[in-house]
Amino acid sequence: EIDAFLTEHVIKVTDPSTDAPNFRPLLSFDHLPECDADVLAHLKAFPKPTPIQSTTWPLLFSGRDVIGIAETGSGKTLGFGLPCLKKLLDSKPSKNPCQPRAVIISPTRELAMQIYDQLVKFGKNEKTQVTCIYGGVGKDEQRHALKKAAIVVATPGRLKDLMNDGSIDLGKVNYLVLDEADRMLDKGFEQDIKDIVKPMPSSRRQTVMFTATWPRSVRDLAATFMKTPVTVTIGGDPS
Ligand code: ADP
Ligand code: MG
Repeated sequence: EIDAFLTEHVIKVTDPSTDAPNFRPLLSFDHLPECDADVLAHLKAFPKPTPIQSTTWPLLFSGRDVIGIAETGSGKTLGFGLPCLKKLLDSKPSKNPCQPRAVIISPTRELAMQIYDQLVKFGKNEKTQVTCIYGGVGKDEQRHALKKAAIVVATPGRLKDLMNDGSIDLGKVNYLVLDEADRMLDKGFEQDIKDIVKPMPSSRRQTVMFTATWPRSVRDLAATFMKTPVTVTIGGDPS
């Protein structure tokens, strides 16, 4: 069943830490690890996980860093979003204001807002309080929202501004997502991303990167701050 699933969706999983990956995709919501009731109820609105979700969830639940290469519309948001929600719900809430546990970086305001919209639907737990920050609007409201945010969805430029003026402390981030990494590099955000990652703890941090293409520049970026990431390709080799 597993081999048939991997073949059908042209899925390749490469784990640099082993020659013989013992990998089982999660083919049904019934096989999820113990999950918050609100979260589960919301997920069950869908018939089953998408291929990228089936493949990345078990890896992310086990704490691995993951690089996902998959096209638009494949369900990547919940691919990185559900493990993020679960990790936060399973841990103690932040004690200090302005210290989010999870950061999701996105290339544009529109994409950041779409991620935010999907994540806020998963209940009102303070451990998963989410806020969205982006440029082109005032900073005061965002600064205020950051006080309580556990998950910050952000575009790189504004996040760096708020970091530099002390409105946010990234020293407690243990889940980092770079969504659409290739587009972020195309838009010239490489240095901003490096500056954003620098203050984050590296030992306890899990890092996820999604990209539609897999050029040298994205590989190099991944190599600078991911720990023996498992690479998952859906739908064959990218251009
Ligand atoms: P991507 O980031 O890969 O472009 P999204 O994560 O935005 O795609 O998902 C695209 C759409 O698919 C969204 O409307 C989302 O609600 C929906 N979706 C997510 N997971 C599932 C699922 N398991 N089954 C059906 N639809 C899903
Ligand atoms: Mg997306």
